[in-house]
Amino acid sequence: MVKPDPEYVQKRIVCSDVERARESLLNPKIIEQKKEERTIDELAKPLIEVSLKEGIETVWDRYEKQQPECKFCAEGLSCSRCAMGPCRIIPEHGRVRGVCGADADLIVARNLLDTIATGAAAHSDHGREIIETLHKTAIGEAQGYTITDGVKLRRIAEEFGFETERLTDEELARDVALALLEEYGTTKNYVQFSRRAPEKTQKIWNATGITPRSVDREIVEAMHRVHMGVGADYANILLHGLRTSLGDGWGGSMMATDISDVLFKTPEINESTVNLGVVKKDHVNIALHGHNPVLSEMVVRA
Ligand code: SF4
Repeated sequence: MVKPDPEYVQKRIVCSDVERARESLLNPKIIEQKKEERTIDELAKPLIEVSLKEGIETVWDRYEKQQPECKFCAEGLSCSRCAMGPCRIIPEHGRVRGVCGADADLIVARNLLDTIATGAAAHSDHGREIIETLHKTAIGEAQGYTITDGVKLRRIAEEFGFETERLTDEELARDVALALLEEYGTTKNYVQFSRRAPEKTQKIWNATGITPRSVDREIVEAMHRVHMGVGADYANILLHGLRTSLGDGWGGSMMATDISDVLFKTPEINESTVNLGVVKKDHVNIALHGHNPVLSEMVVRA
C-alpha cells in the first residue's frame, strides 16, 4: 500500500465522507493520482474513482487517516497487557522496561505470540465449525449438506485406525467427526495429522520441544504465557509461537481443509472468471465471502 505524502495529509484533514467528496470533486487531479496509487488493477480503478467522487470511505481512506502510525506499536514496543500499563520502550528516555520489568525483547516476543495465537484460534475454530457440520451431516441434522468425497473420508478414517469396510459414509463420518473434535483437546500429546510430516521433521520438532500437543492447548498456553509476570524468556516465548503455529497448521487448519473437501468436494484445476469482471449489469450480483465455506457453498448450491 502506497504511503501518502505526509504534507498532503497534514493539510487536508477530512472529517466526514461528505466533506471529503466535496473536496475530491474540486480536485480531479487528486482523484486521478490516488486512483493510480491505490491499485494496479485496471478493473478496480473505475470503482476507486467512484468511491473518491462520491465520498464512499474505503480501506485506503481509513489507512491514510491513521497516518502517521504509532511507531512503538509498529515496532512491537508497546504493551497494554495489564492495568499497570500501557508501557512503551523508549531507550533514549531511559524507558528500557515496562512497569512489570519486561524488556524490549520480551514485549516484542509476547506481542508476536499473541498475534500467532489469535491467528491459530481463528483458523482452528473455523475447522471446528466445519467438523461440527460434518457431524451434524452424519447424524442427519444438517439439512442440505452431503458427504461429497467419501474416498477422502475413508482415507482420514484409516489414519485414525478405523475399520472402514463395513460402515456407510454417514457412519464413518460420525466417527471421524468425533475423533477430529477430540483433537482440539486430545491428551495423547500430539495431533494426529502431525504424523503426516516427514519423519526427519518430526524428530526436529521433538528435539526442540515444539510438537503440538493438541490444538486448543497450545493456544490457551500461549495466552497464559503472554500474560504479565508469566513468560520471562523471549526465546522460550518464541518457541511456543512455533508450537502454536504447528498445532494450527497440522491440526485445526489441516482438519478444516480436509473436511471441507469431504463435504464440498476436493478442488480440481478448472477455468474460471475472476475479479470484478464477474459482475453482470443485468443480474442481481451476490458477493460471497468463501473463506469459511459452510454458508457460502450452500448459497452457491441453492
Ligand atoms: S505487562 Fe508489563 S509492560 Fe505490559 S502493560 Fe503491564 S506492566 Fe506494562
